[in-house]
Amino acid sequence: MSIDKILERARQGAELSAGELVELLSITDKDELQALYDCAYFFKEQYVGKIAYFRGIIECSNLCIKDCYYCGIRRSNTKVERFQMDEDEIVREALWTHEAEYGSCVIQSGERQDEQYIAMIERVVGRIKEATKGELGITLSLGEQTEETYRRWKKAGASRYLLRIETTNPELYAKIHPADHSLDVRKECLAALRRTDYQVGTGVMMGLPGQTMEDLANDILFLKQIDIDMVGMGPYIPHGDTPMGQVVPPYTDEQKKQALTLGLKMIAVTRIVLKDINIAAATALQALEYTGREQGLRCGANVIMPNVTETDYRPKYQLYDNKPCTDENSSMCRGCLSGRIKGIGETVGFNERGDSPHFRKRTGE
Ligand code: SAH
Repeated sequence: MSIDKILERARQGAELSAGELVELLSITDKDELQALYDCAYFFKEQYVGKIAYFRGIIECSNLCIKDCYYCGIRRSNTKVERFQMDEDEIVREALWTHEAEYGSCVIQSGERQDEQYIAMIERVVGRIKEATKGELGITLSLGEQTEETYRRWKKAGASRYLLRIETTNPELYAKIHPADHSLDVRKECLAALRRTDYQVGTGVMMGLPGQTMEDLANDILFLKQIDIDMVGMGPYIPHGDTPMGQVVPPYTDEQKKQALTLGLKMIAVTRIVLKDINIAAATALQALEYTGREQGLRCGANVIMPNVTETDYRPKYQLYDNKPCTDENSSMCRGCLSGRIKGIGETVGFNERGDSPHFRKRTGE
């Protein structure tokens, strides 16, 4: 079927098949790409509006018990200087986020499952909630935990959780992780988060070595199947000090362009299929091209996560090479991003939590 026909079917409300998603993800023609992005924007305007929500992201620690082959802060990377912010620092950055009128913050770190860490996060979340009178949305992105831990953090005041599935293809998952990292555990964590009443977000990396368009189409169908509220996904970018980065050389300009286009296509197709969810334009898009995140908004994303981490810590939280904004401070990021968003004809949802409309619909909240 022609691309035009598939997009027309989508606009009329048809459910696209896996084969049709593969065709959309395989587009290379410039006009067809634009038609895909326009169709995604049509759904974005209709379901979530032309508003970009900011989530200030606090990267509070790079200590990690995991050893993912792609990630720059993996346990076995001895070249990273490890850091852990203390409670006051995390709370201070969350309050900065609130004062900057971002509706929400995201607390992210490498993975730790020890009680000391769990209790620390619990206290931090409680303090942020109290100090902002519950106005600031608190999202956590702290990896795999027990249901009990998710429950404690939720009770303390967190309302959303991001845990990427990375890829839903079991063979590919096994290739990019050590044997003791399990796709099933990850799925179970997403189910536990759902049972614990979080707004749940997940996503994948695109452009992994050996990944096919069928894999990516299945990833999108998985997001639909588990009825996700939020999606954060981004292109895989090699990190030189990781097992995968040693095999994949740094991207050439042409490869960067291709990786960016694939990232944008995934955002667009996800918007077309899932419609009323929140979709983040990942920072990794900007590592490929300076305006990558705004392009993400043009293709259907509606959330941006400006970095609010203390500038000194930023170079130590390099998940991939050439991570942008590591030499800027938080105020610079606010000004620079807001201007660029106005430039594409959208407004920033300052002081709004910007909950996922899908979540509100399914819970009646
Ligand atoms: N430890 C937490 C969150 C930190 S990592 C967790 O496991 O959920 C956040 C995300 O960064 C990961 O889920 C992964 O998708 C992404 N990431 C890691 N290395 C990357 C790389 N080399 N290129 C692109 N994205 C990467």
